[in-house]
Amino acid sequence: MRHIAAHYVFTGIGNPIPMGVITLNDEHVITEIGVLTDETESTEFYNGILTSGFINAHCHLELSYLRNQLKPCVELADFIGQMTKIPRRPPAANEALAAMCAADAEMQREGIVAVGDICNTAGSFPLKRRSAIYYHSFIEAVGLDEIAAAAAMQRLRQLCADAQQAGLPASITPHAAYSLSDALLDAAMDAANRAGILSVHNQECDTENELFTAGRGALHDLFAAAGFPLPPVTGQRAIYRLLPRIAPSVRALFVHNVALSEDDYDRATDRLPHLTWVLCPNSNRHIGQAVPPVDLLYRKNARIAIGTDSLASNSRLSVLEELKSISRRFPHIPLQTLLQWATVNGAAALGKEREWGCLRTGANAGIVLIENVNLHNLCLTADSRARPLVLSVKRDTCLRDENR
Ligand SMILES: [Zn+2]
Repeated sequence: MRHIAAHYVFTGIGNPIPMGVITLNDEHVITEIGVLTDETESTEFYNGILTSGFINAHCHLELSYLRNQLKPCVELADFIGQMTKIPRRPPAANEALAAMCAADAEMQREGIVAVGDICNTAGSFPLKRRSAIYYHSFIEAVGLDEIAAAAAMQRLRQLCADAQQAGLPASITPHAAYSLSDALLDAAMDAANRAGILSVHNQECDTENELFTAGRGALHDLFAAAGFPLPPVTGQRAIYRLLPRIAPSVRALFVHNVALSEDDYDRATDRLPHLTWVLCPNSNRHIGQAVPPVDLLYRKNARIAIGTDSLASNSRLSVLEELKSISRRFPHIPLQTLLQWATVNGAAALGKEREWGCLRTGANAGIVLIENVNLHNLCLTADSRARPLVLSVKRDTCLRDENR
């Protein structure tokens, strides 16, 4: 039995509890949440806020070896240009794995318990099997060559089957509106619709829209110069190449959304009731010095979740650092709302709302302490930091496995 108390407990449901106390049994399952009335000797009291474990709704663990390798860009096309100039030879397997292990350990230290992770290879699977973190592996379809689509899908299906055989949740997903031929997009969407979940990069910059509306712009020029086949000019913004292909029942994660308009938002949410808008503000700043439309989405009461993106475009894999960025720029958004984005909404986006995202009786979702909070105004400060206090379900399983 453990009693953990702090100045506030944010459960993810309802209002924050001042001087809240959480009681856990020996299995780390919450048996009671209440208000601290009399502090007993066994009560652990912490300065700050308690919340459930964070959900990183968008990451690319495989790209961890690119930490500090790519220069900040002014435009997505610059970033893609830099990525395509990286030597074709992948890093040595041990080097890539060491970088992924360090990234996984960093996320654990940051209180992250579940991740939606984009995969192009099987490189991360052995690590994910052992990790304390729950990963959903999104096996990413990308390729503009129509003729190569069938072979690409065959490879992706095999990769997905390999992950599932290793006991890892996995599903095929398209990369973005601009990077797939019609044939590959149709096939990848079909697979995602059948899996009931997808994660797609959406409108990461306005040149993505320009590519489809007018067949010009920085992305167009990059593809043309590289000799890539160009996606069709539809006269519509990028998001409309995706929407009609997604089944309404799918849990869709739309990632970035920097160049999303209000009309795009309205039409997307009309079609997709289970859509989550994943924001990665620190990556957006690195890739295009851009800011996601937080105010629009907040005003619309959108379901928002938080992603770190990869270490190719971010210096940290910390959900709290993303919240701090949003809080600095949009100080009117209450901390309670920010924490819902980082916990409950991310868990629901991955279809894991029963397991993670909330502190409630019977839950074992991890407990994270946020220290150095402005408790007077209930807001994050530049020095706020996350510290995991209690392990979540998968962590326990892993630890037991390792002790065998
Ligand atoms: Zn990404």
